[in-house]
Amino acid sequence: MQVLLDIFDVCAEFGVKLNSHNKAKCPLPGHNEKTASFKVYPKNNNFYCFGCGAQGDAIQLKADLTGRTNNEIYKEVMCGLDTSDKETKRYLEELAVAREKQKAVDEFENWIHEAKIDLYTMCHLMKDKIEEIDTKVDGVPNDIPDELWEYIGELSKFEMMLESLEISRIEFYKEYKDVIEIARENWIR
Ligand SMILES: [Zn+2]
Repeated sequence: MQVLLDIFDVCAEFGVKLNSHNKAKCPLPGHNEKTASFKVYPKNNNFYCFGCGAQGDAIQLKADLTGRTNNEIYKEVMCGLDTSDKETKRYLEELAVAREKQKAVDEFENWIHEAKIDLYTMCHLMKDKIEEIDTKVDGVPNDIPDELWEYIGELSKFEMMLESLEISRIEFYKEYKDVIEIARENWIR
């Protein structure tokens, strides 16, 4: 995979000493630790800290380590590229889309955080609700309101998507925020 900025280069530049498992003591400001919780994933050119939860690509890492913004680093890296080259141009276009999607994920995760939504708890509550109705109607699933089935369906889809690491989940996030909010208002008391 061609990358704009190699995460290993960023680590080397800032003296992050990775061990043989690509782990290191977290170099991020505000996280002082004795164990190595910071891990780099060369395949995806990104990082994750199991201690403080920080994560992102090489550009994000450089931004975090320098206290500059993600966009500043991005522009700086872009300046050094020859965009007249066809392949580079196509790559940059793909990258721009990927960045858009990443932004959507971040927004979504912030939304979850702010709304204090525990999706797993919610899914279980929904299942309880189904069982409650189920008992009333003698276990005939057809008597369960269509709406509720719909919500349950969306939520299981959502649960599934949370487990997936694919970037394609982003559109899903944007689209289903509202569905989940409605489900919560209607069925969770
Ligand atoms: Zn950390």
